[in-house]
Amino acid sequence: MELWYTEQHTANVRFSIKVDKPLYTGQSEFQRIDVFNSHEFGNFFTLDGLMMVTEKDEFIYHDMIVHVPMATNPKIKNVLVIGAGDGGTVRELTRYSTLEHIDMVEIDKMVVDVCREYLPQTACKLDDPRVKIYFEDGLKFVRSKENVYDLIIVDSTDPFGPGEGLFTREFYGNCFKALKEDGILVNQHESPYYGEYAKSMQRAHKRIREFFPVCRVYQAHIPTYPSGHWLFGFASKKFDPLTDIDEQAWNSLGLKTKYYNTEIHKGCFALPSYVKDLLLNAED
Ligand code: SAM
Repeated sequence: MELWYTEQHTANVRFSIKVDKPLYTGQSEFQRIDVFNSHEFGNFFTLDGLMMVTEKDEFIYHDMIVHVPMATNPKIKNVLVIGAGDGGTVRELTRYSTLEHIDMVEIDKMVVDVCREYLPQTACKLDDPRVKIYFEDGLKFVRSKENVYDLIIVDSTDPFGPGEGLFTREFYGNCFKALKEDGILVNQHESPYYGEYAKSMQRAHKRIREFFPVCRVYQAHIPTYPSGHWLFGFASKKFDPLTDIDEQAWNSLGLKTKYYNTEIHKGCFALPSYVKDLLLNAED
């Protein structure tokens, strides 16, 4: 008998991975959590039937969501991470000895517990002494913060269910307020390729643009996400990721990365024409 994990990417497109062994199934207060083992992607976990992290390709997402802002402003010291319960974003951040403090706000404690057990590859730095984990709704957490963070990373699920509030105007406005005067906001920005994802991406871009003077989008190839073509938003009060990056400074840190490098940094902001058009014509 063969066992396959199948995800519905659109009404007409499915993506499947052959499963060697189901490892965990649970229902939290917020979502259904599954973990599988597979030959091709190693252990992977899903929330409500949507792919979150695989051991094989997580390095692409986590490199890109962390090193692009960190290389843009090497003076970042205080970071807020929203979502990110698997720990991959925190793992990459803790590689910077210059970072002083990381607040991580994850709504679902069960995600963290399950990832600590089945995905130690990503969860391995959650106990770093600089990390403080809050099990709260990120939308509520940022409401009371003002002029605190150098960087906010929104490593969320898609804009429905618990993640919905993290794509709202209210949330982006509060992130702007929570950031210091040269703060940067990076978020997972969905995919431009399939219609429904593209709409979410356009909506997010339009809303972020209302608050931040610098507002760019960059891309990466992530094989297990819908269409494989994934975007990240880079918004900031001051820094421009293309003109402010100090390549020499980042390279002199000697961080070994499997996907990110300073050439990718410059190249990832070059977008296909249809994506540029989508962003230009973004409507709410
Ligand atoms: N890399 C992943 C992706 O793009 O598919 C995201 C992974 S991470 C596991 C997403 C996390 O965001 C989940 O663990 C989820 O519980 C958390 N989350 C969703 N909504 C949230 C909210 N409002 N506040 C804080 N965390 C939230």
